[in-house]
Amino acid sequence: MNYKLRVQLIIALIVIAVSSVFTFFYIANEERFSSERSERASENVKMAFDTIVKDVEHFYVFRAYANMRSNGIIDAMKEKDSQALYRLTLPRYKTLREENPYLIIMQFHAADGHSLIRMHRKEEYGDNIALKRPMLRSVHRTHRMISGFEWGVQGLAFRVIVPVIDRGVYLGAVEFGIDTKYFVDKIKKVTGSDNLLLLHENMLAAADKSRYKAGIGAYRFTSISEEQWPIIYAYIAHDPSLAPKNIRYSRKNYEINPIFLKNGENQNIGVILCIEDVTGGYQNTIETLTEAIVLTLALVGLFWGLFEYAFGMLIGKVNLQERYIKTILDSQKNIVVVIEKNKIIYANQSFFDYFNYSNLKSFYAEHESVSDYFEKGNSGEYLQPLNEGLTWIEYLTYYHIKEHKVKMAVNGEISTFTVHAQTMIYKKQTRYVVVFTDITMLNELATNDILTHVANRFQFDKVLEHSISLSERYKRSMSIILIDIDHFKEVNDSYGHLVGDEILKKLALLLKGGIRKSDSVARWGGEEFTILLPDNELSSASNLAETLRKKIEESDFSPVERLTCSFGVVQWRKGEDGDSLMRRVDEKLYEAKEAGRNRVVS
Ligand code: GH3
Ligand code: MG
Ligand code: MG
Repeated sequence: MNYKLRVQLIIALIVIAVSSVFTFFYIANEERFSSERSERASENVKMAFDTIVKDVEHFYVFRAYANMRSNGIIDAMKEKDSQALYRLTLPRYKTLREENPYLIIMQFHAADGHSLIRMHRKEEYGDNIALKRPMLRSVHRTHRMISGFEWGVQGLAFRVIVPVIDRGVYLGAVEFGIDTKYFVDKIKKVTGSDNLLLLHENMLAAADKSRYKAGIGAYRFTSISEEQWPIIYAYIAHDPSLAPKNIRYSRKNYEINPIFLKNGENQNIGVILCIEDVTGGYQNTIETLTEAIVLTLALVGLFWGLFEYAFGMLIGKVNLQERYIKTILDSQKNIVVVIEKNKIIYANQSFFDYFNYSNLKSFYAEHESVSDYFEKGNSGEYLQPLNEGLTWIEYLTYYHIKEHKVKMAVNGEISTFTVHAQTMIYKKQTRYVVVFTDITMLNELATNDILTHVANRFQFDKVLEHSISLSERYKRSMSIILIDIDHFKEVNDSYGHLVGDEILKKLALLLKGGIRKSDSVARWGGEEFTILLPDNELSSASNLAETLRKKIEESDFSPVERLTCSFGVVQWRKGEDGDSLMRRVDEKLYEAKEAGRNRVVS
């Protein structure tokens, strides 16, 4: 799994974990809050209703007494003077109606059960109303105030019936009737609930029964709107009883509380169904979970996207950086490779150009290592695949102060490079940045003689020193031959310098052709050459010198008729340095000249 995906998954897991914890606590708390809210709603409604009832009762009892105290009322009652009662009460009745338009009944009752006057319907009086009205009968019997809901000509009303007693004599009663709608509206005002009024079917006249058909149990709705129906269906769906219930409809929670309207005999004759929306953020568990999941997914998506964006920007920057580095490295003439565990993991364009491969895969299909190209056996001067028991790369970093050179052959063309390696640690692995710098031309100029193309004296000195140290270390023999052309001055004098130069070139070629690969020829001076023979005793060196001498003598150096050389040969002695060795071989050469030239002296 890549780094980016891993980070994204971790972020997603964190978001999911945090949201799960919040959701869990939210649901746990919400259950509690919801039941508290329901309880409160139920209590509120009951309390509001009781308070309203009490207030109404007190208010009208107070009005009744105030009315009795006013002049003439008691006398009119005694006289049963309906007209006087009406006249005396009318201003007060008007005020009361203004105070509360729901006041639909104000009536004076005679002690014998007859109606004295109806303020709300003044033309209708004298009837024995107590016959139809149990509450009224109760007041006439007990001479005590009574209140409650009772059905009448005006419909269902809350009635407050106050006895009128003058000096111990019961004269009758004053009745106030308040429309039930007043309670419905007042509860709505106080609690905010939507209320429905239902009447008990027993209380309904035949006409009303057929008018109010819909209902719950024995109760019929006085009116119900289209919007209220579904809530009522939900209310009675599982339990048709008129009980306090918490129901759910259309993503909302309703607390439904019935308030039973009682008559004077404590019978339920109606009910106000208070529907209170208690949703207030409450969601059922599944909905909460769904919302939490949607929200979580949205958050995960958001973070995922943000990360994707940020990472994209970062990658863009890194890519740009990478392109810079690649361009810089590819514009290098030097070969640059990065090696880890002996394998190239990066190579610049020069690498592919030089080795003629298009990618590392095809390179490794044909080669084990870049060291396959190293020219082998070429004395200690040039890097080998294995050096003193170390791989070339280990050797490079171990002897990092020394300048290393390597010869590599591609398609038979040998090039010389200096090699530098730097180490860097990446993820606890050592990586080597290796730079090969092509110095073929420089090397050629520095080490070879321009005219004859054999090693120059400077190079020869280095090779000699190295050979001595190897011979010293491995206790091997080594010999040296010094060659000088006989009477070369005369060649120059007779044929000119250019011919002399050509002779020198030809001789160098001849010498090179006459030795082994491990031997090295160098131009020692003007017309003097030297041959270094590692692992050679004096005798074999002398034999080689003799062979060369003959070959020169027999070779055609035209226009020079005959060219000969004198040879000095010595074997290196243990502990001897280069100067001493060269001095000794020079002495031998001198001896050969002295002895008449064209000979080998060892
Ligand atoms: P011998 O060694 O047999 O005693 O006689 P020699 O004539 O070779 O004498 P010597 O070694 O003193 O002279 C060397 C001559 O080689 C001198 C010089 O003119 C010639 N020589 C040296 N270098 C070059 C070169 O690069 N080109 C040519 N054409 N001649 C050179
Ligand atoms: Mg000479
Ligand atoms: Mg000479």
